Amino acid sequence: MSNPRPSPSAPLDRRGRPLRDLRVSVTDRCNFRCVYCMPEEGIAKRSHEEMLSYEELELVVRAAAGLGISKVRLTGGEPLARLGLPDFVAQIAAVPGIEDLSMTTNGTLLARHAAALAAAGLQRVNVSLDTLRPDRFARITRRGRLADVLEGLAAARQAGLEPIKLNMVVIRGLNDDEVGDFARHSAGDGWHVRYIELMPIGGNAAWVGGEPVGVPEIRARIEAEAGPLQEVHGPAGNGPARYYRLPGARGTIGFIGALSDHFCASCNRLRLTADGRLRPCLMSDREIDLRGALRAGADLVELQALLARAI
Ligand code: SAM
Ligand code: SF4
Repeated sequence: MSNPRPSPSAPLDRRGRPLRDLRVSVTDRCNFRCVYCMPEEGIAKRSHEEMLSYEELELVVRAAAGLGISKVRLTGGEPLARLGLPDFVAQIAAVPGIEDLSMTTNGTLLARHAAALAAAGLQRVNVSLDTLRPDRFARITRRGRLADVLEGLAAARQAGLEPIKLNMVVIRGLNDDEVGDFARHSAGDGWHVRYIELMPIGGNAAWVGGEPVGVPEIRARIEAEAGPLQEVHGPAGNGPARYYRLPGARGTIGFIGALSDHFCASCNRLRLTADGRLRPCLMSDREIDLRGALRAGADLVELQALLARAI
């Protein structure tokens, strides 16, 4: 098998956008059933054979790194629900050219794994946290405990998985009255908070009745409740979010407005599903099947040709 050297610069797509970022979903399973993401009964389980093995995922990351992709974010489903994740992190951290390795997690298993993840080479985590009220937390996640996530956050901080970003999906009538509380934590505790507009995905149409809370409304509420926002450079690992700060705050505030912001111009990522489909755009159904290629014996050069097609 040939082993091309990592290219020093990110590949450009047809619109001249540098693609640096690969999101790797390691599983589509999850220990939560967040109301906006999954139906209560969960999703149809894929068999182990349908999922890419860690070795296959690593090969895709090697191929991507060879093209100049330098950032990998592990996600899911819940990435920590897949067994052996710290060992997989070590595999990915050892891939030449991968400079930034992070994970998005619901945080509930972080207390158990943070130290091992950091030792394996994970650099930082994004933790999804939509409310600071235990009863609401149980309602939104349908099975989670807020205390577990708070313990997970403490363990991540202790292990140095920083900067930690907190992702809050804002939902009218469910947690939109906590927007100001999260902003105040960015000042008081140095939290990096990212407010996310609810997207109509994941079979949530049945219960998402109200008008989505858009970024302009979230921003206006923060400014009314917590003070004026100043635009700043974001913490490490910026994606398509814009960053702000309350006066004197250590933490930052970001907005991810898939619906109101049209951030396509600054999009810099490819996504790999747990069963090996490469998705260039979240808003499009177009995808490239890498699993078939991998199982037909594709080498790095052939994988790179498929990645280049997606780019
Ligand atoms: N399970 C992990 C977690 O919750 O962080 C990683 C996967 S989860 C799909 C990644 C992110 O997508 C989370 O921050 C979650 O809040 C967000 N998300 C899920 N469904 C969404 C929706 N319908 N609209 C906006 N964001 C959503
Ligand atoms: Fe699971 Fe994350 Fe979806 Fe919640 S948002 S159900 S934690 S995958």
